[in-house]
Amino acid sequence: ALQASDNGLLLSVLAPTLDQRGDAPTQKYTRGVVGVAAGSAAYAGAALLCVRGAQAGPAGMVRFLGEPELAARVVDRCPEVVAHTDVAQRGRVQAWVVGSGGGDDAASRLATALEDEVPVVVDADALQHVPDRFDVPALLTPHAGELARMLDVERSAVEQDPLGHATRAADRWQAAVLLKGSRTLVAYPDEPARVNLSGTPWLATAGAGDVLAGLAGAFLASGAHPRDAGSLAAFVHGAAAVVASGGGPVTASRVADAVPGVLAAWRNGT
Ligand code: AMP
Ligand code: MG
Repeated sequence: ALQASDNGLLLSVLAPTLDQRGDAPTQKYTRGVVGVAAGSAAYAGAALLCVRGAQAGPAGMVRFLGEPELAARVVDRCPEVVAHTDVAQRGRVQAWVVGSGGGDDAASRLATALEDEVPVVVDADALQHVPDRFDVPALLTPHAGELARMLDVERSAVEQDPLGHATRAADRWQAAVLLKGSRTLVAYPDEPARVNLSGTPWLATAGAGDVLAGLAGAFLASGAHPRDAGSLAAFVHGAAAVVASGGGPVTASRVADAVPGVLAAWRNGT
């Protein structure tokens, strides 16, 4: 029950947001606003990488929600970001990305995001605080260790049967589950799972998962179904890693930087 990701998906997701033909007005809000609630004092870089992943996708704006010191660092490095430090004053978003490098307040960040009743990407520490059932479209992005903890099984069990465990989690939480690894899988209830075929072992590098979560958030904010946001993000992220790596070591920042070129090339049919 595995399907290769359908590359034609990209066109159906990007076309409404990128094509400015006809009389459909395009402005930053209609292209989608991504909210990033990620990073912590200990993992400030995760906030930046998640934001950079979100910026690299098709959304029109990235908002950041976090502690003042962290928010200031994000805006310093990514001046396009609109930062919010007061939860009550957070702006409207079309999708949230929560948890990457999230530290201790991942649970409250997730609760805040769910209050907004918009689609969510749940990553890293926030995965251990998922509700019994999601009332919003959700994409969970664990690696094998994180999924093992969610399901209360050994990591080796997930590694031996990644498809079975991803499918189990998708059924249990009624959500899209993107299980990261050398062959990333995307499972969704009652549908064949998808396997991602792009990438390079050089992608196993610090921060790569934070970029992926941000990018998936941008697709979600642009209106993609969570399983499509997941499989598109995995494919584009892997392809960007191949381009940025050139067969050698690569950093997560450079993967994020390579994403827009991959989107443009793909959309133009090259
Ligand atoms: P994270 O575990 O959150 O840091 O995310 C790691 C990223 O690297 C994910 O996108 C994985 O799919 C990817 N990755 C990890 N190991 C490999 C591998 N051996 N080959 C290709 N991609 C990998
Ligand atoms: Mg991670």
